[in-house]
Amino acid sequence: MLKDQDRIFTNLYGMHDRTLKGAQARGHWDGTAKLIQQGRDAIIDTMKASGLRGRGGAGFPTGLKWSFMPKESDGRPAYLVINADESEPGTCKDREIMRHDPHTLIEGALIASFAMNAHTCYIYLRGEYIREREALQAAIDEAYDAGLLGKNAAGSGWDFDVFLHHGAGAYICGEETALIESLEGKKGMPRMKPPFPAGAGLYGCPTTVNNVESIAVVPTILRRGAEWFAGFGRPNNAGTKLFAISGHVNNPCVVEEAMSISFEELIEKHCGGIRGGWDNLFAVIPGGSSVPCVRGENMRDAIMDFDYLRNDLGSGLGTAAVIVMDKQTDIIKAIWRLSKFYKHESCGQCTPCREGTGWMMRVMDRLVQGKADVEEIDMLWDVTKQVEGHTICALGDAAAWPIQGLIRNFRGEIEDRIKANKTGRMGALAAE
Ligand code: SF4
Repeated sequence: MLKDQDRIFTNLYGMHDRTLKGAQARGHWDGTAKLIQQGRDAIIDTMKASGLRGRGGAGFPTGLKWSFMPKESDGRPAYLVINADESEPGTCKDREIMRHDPHTLIEGALIASFAMNAHTCYIYLRGEYIREREALQAAIDEAYDAGLLGKNAAGSGWDFDVFLHHGAGAYICGEETALIESLEGKKGMPRMKPPFPAGAGLYGCPTTVNNVESIAVVPTILRRGAEWFAGFGRPNNAGTKLFAISGHVNNPCVVEEAMSISFEELIEKHCGGIRGGWDNLFAVIPGGSSVPCVRGENMRDAIMDFDYLRNDLGSGLGTAAVIVMDKQTDIIKAIWRLSKFYKHESCGQCTPCREGTGWMMRVMDRLVQGKADVEEIDMLWDVTKQVEGHTICALGDAAAWPIQGLIRNFRGEIEDRIKANKTGRMGALAAE
């Protein structure tokens, strides 16, 4: 289990003072100018050596992403954009950082922006996050007053401004190019790539979009060293990580743990076990609603990191939003609900997603009731394959994968439902 002295987020539960004074007492903003004076290359090298992979879901190496930004400006400004949209169902970790530990995010924004030659950072905040905006804005105001932001930020010699931008509540604005469009005041519709944001992003200028947690861990990594951070987790899956566990556990929570912790340890140590005991575990979505669900019996020994969940279980760590379901769950209905969500959130600009999400949802409508033929399960699988990888952005994949997980791992349950409907022996849950 992660020791308290190795926690980056020391006020995750809001038990301590979140103001600048409290943050400084916990070690934030300590020697920030010195960290910056190491220089751009040294900071990026440390981030690469730490093994930090993006915490927003895709797991792309953060240091490498930063290195894509132009070293010298061609006259255009560069921007850091922090993705605080956090709209993936099940995911609720970044909001804890923003409302209880906002200064580590702001300090991280300064250091990361310096490393990418950016004098301006925008934090794009989910529309529903009102309290988080208030906490962040208060922290930003305090930082300006204390000279930690603005001209010669924190005495580093670097001029730096941070602006908050509040979204209007669309899931798709968590996709980086849709987020950029929305920030520019347009409809949040993803852009075709290339060009990638590092070449032409916000206002056509070099831009890096990073998740809140990815930026908030930066100051501590630089203070404690790449080796310290890389010492947690298995190779290629380094660091500490915020896990957000919800559903049928005795104590749902958000907790910082070492990467590659086993699922059983995570649930036993922090969540008080599965509701009704381990024999009652039925299914788990290990990384937010878009990753495929896994059967409970395959999860108990699972290693909670990017590589194990993808390579060994055909799922993913995603945002590490772990949704636990016990045997009371109607898994077909649960996945149907996600299909309905993705259909609703599709921006509609590409055909496989616009039409496919609705088509998949309508088949799922019938599967919940068992009003289908068994052959339609394969037909639905084919449709998910026609959507996956054939769209402008990852929402198409996000809509396809939960259904693929359902068919791959819970086909027996779907077939039973169809048979039950044909014989008139439907369970109460499914008949609703
Ligand atoms: Fe829009 Fe869906 Fe296409 Fe993404 S995949 S651009 S959400 S229609």
